[in-house]
Amino acid sequence: MKEAIHPNYHVTTVTCACGNTFESGSVKQELRVEICSNCHPFFTGKQKFVDAGGRVDKFKKKYGM
Ligand SMILES: [Zn+2]
Repeated sequence: MKEAIHPNYHVTTVTCACGNTFESGSVKQELRVEICSNCHPFFTGKQKFVDAGGRVDKFKKKYGM
């Protein structure tokens, strides 16, 4: 039963509808998604949140860090 730990599990190339491709572990040999971390609104929104993190730099300057 040694081979039953991860049956048919391997790294596969995921192709998104936006044209972005990335590798991910999957039991499928080829994977197509309509949305990925490159075009999903959740991730783009998160990116804006990260940009708003400029406050951290101001915080560091204020306290001489
Ligand atoms: Zn995408």
